[in-house]
Amino acid sequence: MIADDLDTLDANQLRDALRAARAEAAFKQAVIDKLTHENAILKRLKFAAQSERFSAEQKSLLDETLDSDLAAVAAEIEALQPGRAAGERQQPRREKLPAHLPRRDVHHEPENTACGCGQAMQRIGEDVAEKLDYQPGVFTVERHIRGKWVCKCCERIVQAPVAPHIIDKGLPTTGLLAQVLVAKYLDHLPLYRQEAIFERAGHAIARSTLAQWVGECGVQLQPLVDALAAELLRQPVLHADETPVAMLKPGHGKTHRAYLWSYCSTQFSPLQGVVFDFADSRGGQHARDFL
Ligand SMILES: [Zn+2]
Repeated sequence: MIADDLDTLDANQLRDALRAARAEAAFKQAVIDKLTHENAILKRLKFAAQSERFSAEQKSLLDETLDSDLAAVAAEIEALQPGRAAGERQQPRREKLPAHLPRRDVHHEPENTACGCGQAMQRIGEDVAEKLDYQPGVFTVERHIRGKWVCKCCERIVQAPVAPHIIDKGLPTTGLLAQVLVAKYLDHLPLYRQEAIFERAGHAIARSTLAQWVGECGVQLQPLVDALAAELLRQPVLHADETPVAMLKPGHGKTHRAYLWSYCSTQFSPLQGVVFDFADSRGGQHARDFL
């Protein structure tokens, strides 16, 4: 319901619209409350983890995971209340990208620089946003340059819109994010090792920053996982298996046994897909919930 429509509605329709808006607001608030609660639990776990007898490597892994989860919850909260959270959330401090990295300019200009009045517009300036890109072993900086065009007689300004990015106003290109995710989940390279690899390539990226990126990518990718799971559930036959993984859980000073359940289509299906579902036990309930 957009505000302009309200003028044309009668009292009953207005009442319905108000009721729908109230229900939606209540639902969103409930989700925000749940996420805020999760946020608090994650922060407490992070605090508890400082005093545990985990090895340095375990601590680092746990820290990475908690940072990823915190970023994911923050991104979800922000998606639910764009205006408010953007202001509350502290603007990440944007460090300048090192001058020694090679630059590649990407120009974004308006398609049409003729003003409606017939005059040709003049370029009066530009905005430049730098993104960090990575080909294995080599960092480069993409400079996204958006010219500002003005028509002197109308005082009208035209500029190409900012291209969408996975992390709005964020540092990394999509390529760099893909690199971090593939290295972590396919090549099993923990973020603290990636931090060292990046440092050797000329630009260290803190593991906490990498963890935030992983968390935000997780939220962005969730609709794909949901779609794949829905597609798998339409298959006449599925294979499923569960495999134990060691899970670090603050408060007990040792690892716990958790399970990754995998569900995949058969080799005869035109859809070749696998979805992983994390569970804290091998109980059949988890399979029933998923299916
Ligand atoms: Zn004009």
